[in-house]
Amino acid sequence: TLPTIYAVTPTYTRPAQKAELTRLSHLFMLLPHLHWIIVEDANATSPLVTGLLERAGLEKRSTQLNIKTPPEFKLQGKDPNWIKPRGVEQRNLALTWLRNNVDTDRHSIVFFMDDDNSYSTELFAEMSKIERGRVGVWPVGLVGGLMVERPYLSEDQKQVIGFNAAWRPERPFPIDMAAFAISMDLFIRNPQALFSYEVQRGYQESEILRHLTTREKLQPLANACRDVLVWHTRTEKTKLTAEEALLKQGKRSDG
Ligand code: UDP
Ligand code: MN
Repeated sequence: TLPTIYAVTPTYTRPAQKAELTRLSHLFMLLPHLHWIIVEDANATSPLVTGLLERAGLEKRSTQLNIKTPPEFKLQGKDPNWIKPRGVEQRNLALTWLRNNVDTDRHSIVFFMDDDNSYSTELFAEMSKIERGRVGVWPVGLVGGLMVERPYLSEDQKQVIGFNAAWRPERPFPIDMAAFAISMDLFIRNPQALFSYEVQRGYQESEILRHLTTREKLQPLANACRDVLVWHTRTEKTKLTAEEALLKQGKRSDG
């Protein structure tokens, strides 16, 4: 039987949220061995997320959590989005939940799954191959100023020997959050592994991975890291000038 994949998704209220989460929920409908941990960046869970999980029939294999990013770390309206780390608090809450709730006698996998990327179902078939005690890696499309960021492999294709990253290639693990998934037992064996606000831009992946693995121990997947099965797409900020004019008249298009 396939290991359960715990997909951890931080999410926050904005006009495109329902569209993003609907796409993900329909992907989950195709993948029965996934468990979705959706962590809202809010003081309470929302009916929007609860309703979405219900409509997709995911009540029994999802967990709805919430924790608000402290205001000093929250992005302000016009801030470029790289100025502060995003999803730190939410991913850490999910890790606490996992450490307390997962039956570690059974092999399972943890994947940090942002809500706006594009994922192929084939990616999850690859993740299922991750061995106990290991971190699986694969290419990610449309990230770091490249069409594809990917690991370089040894001649026998069993080991990662480098990365093609152009952006901050000096990072210990110069890869995107979507480029790896982790055997759950590593989080139990390394209780200090957490995300942090105290890291430079682009170092969140290295921050978590340095506690869990080394480059040499990474498990290459996706056809020896040749296939691209996930893309770091980003949704443009929704323009709502006409909606704002309506709101001033006490009306709304979605009311
Ligand atoms: N996120 C969040 N709160 C925020 C901003 C982002 O929970 O204030 C979530 C977001 O929904 C996504 C993840 O954190 O799942 C990464 O954010 P984003 O996609 O904006 O980051 P980027 O793609 O720019 O790295
Ligand atoms: Mn994103």
